Amino acid sequence: MAAQEELFHAFLIKYAEIGIKGKNRYLFEDALIRQIRFALKGAEGDFSVRKEMGRIYVEAEGAFDFDEVTERLGRVFGISGICPMVQFDYKTFADIRDRVVDYVGKVHPEGNFTFKVQTKRANKGFPMESNEINAKLGEAILAAYPSLKVNVHEPDVFFYVEVRERANIYSGVIPGPGGMPVGTSGRALLLLSGGIDSPVAGYMTAKRGVAIDAVYFHAPPYTSERAKQKVVDLAKLVSRYSGPMKLHVINFTDIQLYIYDQCPHEELTIIMRRYMMRIAEAIAGEGDALALVTGESIGQVASQTLPSLACTGEVCDLPVIRPVIGFDKQEIVDIALKIGTFETSIQPFEDCCTIFVAKHPVIKPNRKIIRRSEERLAEKIEEMVRTALKEREVMEIQG
Ligand code: ATP
Ligand code: MG
Repeated sequence: MAAQEELFHAFLIKYAEIGIKGKNRYLFEDALIRQIRFALKGAEGDFSVRKEMGRIYVEAEGAFDFDEVTERLGRVFGISGICPMVQFDYKTFADIRDRVVDYVGKVHPEGNFTFKVQTKRANKGFPMESNEINAKLGEAILAAYPSLKVNVHEPDVFFYVEVRERANIYSGVIPGPGGMPVGTSGRALLLLSGGIDSPVAGYMTAKRGVAIDAVYFHAPPYTSERAKQKVVDLAKLVSRYSGPMKLHVINFTDIQLYIYDQCPHEELTIIMRRYMMRIAEAIAGEGDALALVTGESIGQVASQTLPSLACTGEVCDLPVIRPVIGFDKQEIVDIALKIGTFETSIQPFEDCCTIFVAKHPVIKPNRKIIRRSEERLAEKIEEMVRTALKEREVMEIQG
């Protein structure tokens, strides 16, 4: 069989059409085209991505790497399937017939399957109707490969033939990631730590079309440069799916130490998390982010019991999206493996929550008590938050 890149120079992009009628449809398609272009940036070869009569085509101009392109397209949300396609010019039916027969032999050399030809004739000037083309192509395929059989009800293989300005043939579909194109559902701010869960939470939010920026709370020298680099690496991995993002790095050390000095140690984690939420909300408010996203999962650790989630959630007005809330750890790990963040997440660098954790953190924080403890921070905390926001580092991340 010929190398894939020799055979296929184009891809038909399939996307779910439910709910994207009318005006939404064109927003959806334009966002999808933008994300496809972004995903192919940096890939070997030149590509044109275009919309034609309700379809999206990716066409390679010159040499390219088939596996690289399908892998990159496989990360674009909104794509339900990627069909490698042969495109060619034709004048007569004989031109189409010869190319189709050639295609069947090259792409499906197995020789013992059932098939059906399905033609769409968009070129209404072409003198044959779709049904006639189907029948004639079926005959030609059977004549060339007598071991094949036609099955119009449940064929093993569909040969799709499109008679347009040029003609297209395709028969295979590589599954896409589904979801909605990023940029069609607003923007959210992801609290991104170096763990396994938050990159998965970012991925799942982006999958529904939400553009993402991220914030990381860094606590030097308690957390190292390597720990920060790990978060940058994770942000890059998430942005292979979500598109470019801003990563805000907040120096959290002084705030953490101040809480450590002033508040009961068993409340440290919960109070720290409340300040993370407040700072994240302030960053979201500077731009157009409409929600915060975390990697919390009920009961995973003391700070993620339902009372703890209620207690950290109460400090902000924006909705907090927790895409992995109902997942067991293993289910989150499975997604992390699938999207390629796991290996990076398990690198052994301390994160800022592990250093200050108490032996027996509160697992049922009483909000009134926590609020009272926070009053002990009244003297300096607002100024510290302002400083942390002002002195933050902002990085532009691209996968
Ligand atoms: P993860 O695997 O995402 O780190 P985790 O199981 O370690 O999660 P926690 O450390 O309790 O859980 O954090 C819960 C959530 O709070 C994280 O998923 C993340 O969204 C946010 N978070 C925790 N620490 C940080 C940090 N240093 N910077 C930014 N966000 C953080
Ligand atoms: Mg963590």
